[in-house]
Amino acid sequence: MQIWAKIEEWLQKNQSLILMYVIDSQGSSPGRAGFKMIVNDQGEMYGSIGGGFMEHKLVELCKKELLQKPFSPFLKRQIHRPDLPKDRSGMICSGEQTIAFYPLGKSHLPWITELLEAKGKGLLIADHQDIVFHKNENLSAPFESRLSSPSVWRFTENLRFQAVLHIIGGGHVGLALSRFACELDFTVKVYDEREGLNTLARNHFAEAVIVPDYSQIADFVAEGAQQYVVLMSFGYRTDKVILRQLLPREYAYLGMLGSRAKVETLFSELREEGIPEELLDRVHAPIGVQIGSKTPAEIAVSILAEVIGLRNGETQSCTECESLYFTKASQMASLCPECAHQIYGYTACQHVFEKGRCVHCHWDGSVSDYVKKIKGKS
Ligand SMILES: [Zn+2]
Ligand SMILES: [Zn+2]
Repeated sequence: MQIWAKIEEWLQKNQSLILMYVIDSQGSSPGRAGFKMIVNDQGEMYGSIGGGFMEHKLVELCKKELLQKPFSPFLKRQIHRPDLPKDRSGMICSGEQTIAFYPLGKSHLPWITELLEAKGKGLLIADHQDIVFHKNENLSAPFESRLSSPSVWRFTENLRFQAVLHIIGGGHVGLALSRFACELDFTVKVYDEREGLNTLARNHFAEAVIVPDYSQIADFVAEGAQQYVVLMSFGYRTDKVILRQLLPREYAYLGMLGSRAKVETLFSELREEGIPEELLDRVHAPIGVQIGSKTPAEIAVSILAEVIGLRNGETQSCTECESLYFTKASQMASLCPECAHQIYGYTACQHVFEKGRCVHCHWDGSVSDYVKKIKGKS
C-alpha cells in the first residue's frame, strides 16, 4: 500500500509522475506481474519493477523523455536475453516482462484517495486508455489479463489478493515482525488477549489489532492458501490452547516460537490428547531460519526468511485432494502432481516427505475419494 500513499503525496504536491506497472512476466524475469514503480519530475523514484539494468534503463526513459511531454499509456516488452536484436533488456536471465507506462496527474487523485481509504479492498483496472480503482469489487484470482494486441490491453489486479500474516501475540517480537512484514507486502493482523499492551498501541503496521479470547481464536484466523500464521502468545498454556484449535486447519504456514524443549513438551502433551502426528509435523517449530537471532528484530527476520521462502514457492490448493502444492511442481493447472498422476497419468513426483509434506511438491498426502476409487480399480 505504501506506493499509493507516495503517489498521493506527490500528486498533492502537484508533481507529474509516471507509473511503471508490470502486467505480465514469464520465465525467471526479476519483476513479477503486479510490481510497480513511480518516477517523478524531481527525479525521485519509489517501488521496483525488478531492479537491475532493465529498471535503470526504463527510469532513464521516464526522466529523459516521458516526463517532458504528455503521452498516452503504452506497453513495453522486455526480453531478458543477450542475443536478441529488439526489445533487449540488457539482462541475461532469460525471462520476459511486459510493462505498462501510465502518466498520473491530479485527475487520478480521487480514486487514489479512495483506494487508500478502502485499504486496497477492490480491483485495479489498467487498460490502454487509463488506470482506475474500483472499490469493493472482487476477483477469484490475483490477476486477470487480456492482451489483445500491443495497443489494446486490459489488466486487472485484485489488490486484496495478498498474503495475510496473522501474528498471535503482540509483544516486542510481534511488533518487529509487523513492521518488516508490512514492508514485504503482507497484510498484517495481530491478536493478543492482553488489553492495553503498549506494544499493541504502538503497532501502526498491522491492518487490524484484535483482542480475542484465545479459546475462540479459530473464529478470527481465516484458513486458506494465502494465510500465514505465527504463534507467539505470552505463555506455554495459551500457545497450547491456540495450537489445539489451529492444527486441523489449512494454512500456508503455521509456525510457533519457542525453545526446542518447550516444543517437545507441548507436542507430547498434544499427542497424548490424541492429536495425530501428521498435524504436529506441519508446525514449523522451532520457528524460522536458524541465524542465531536474539533480539526481537533478528527473530522477526529469521521468521520472515522462512515465510518468504514458502511464499515464493507459490503454493496453491489442489482442486481434487485439497492439499497445498508448489504450483511450479505440477504439470496441470489446478491439480497437484499426485492427483495429476493418478487421474491423468502425468509423470509422478518422487515424493520425499519431511515434516508431513513432500519437499519436492509440498503435497501433504491427502487423497480424495475419487482417487482412492481409481487406485482401488488398478
Ligand atoms: Zn491433489
Ligand atoms: Zn511430491
